[in-house]
Amino acid sequence: MIVTILAIVFLLLIVVAAFVGYKTVMQRGTSPEEMNLEKCSICREKFEKSQLILRQIGDYKLLYFCRKCVLSLYGDLGIKN
Ligand SMILES: [Zn+2]
Repeated sequence: MIVTILAIVFLLLIVVAAFVGYKTVMQRGTSPEEMNLEKCSICREKFEKSQLILRQIGDYKLLYFCRKCVLSLYGDLGIKN
């Protein structure tokens, strides 16, 4: 009886380990693409980090701006002056 319970527990452990391993592999498969994406702080569209301008506000807050929004800000500044 104890042997049977141990066998079931062992099988369950293998199933859980396989599931966790599979999940980890799946996350690794999708993460590099997701990791490189950031939202523009103004229009909230997602862009690759290489396409965004990064500015640090204070000690911790990081803001990303896309080219379109930077140009529009630049345009707004031009109108005011
Ligand atoms: Zn933007």
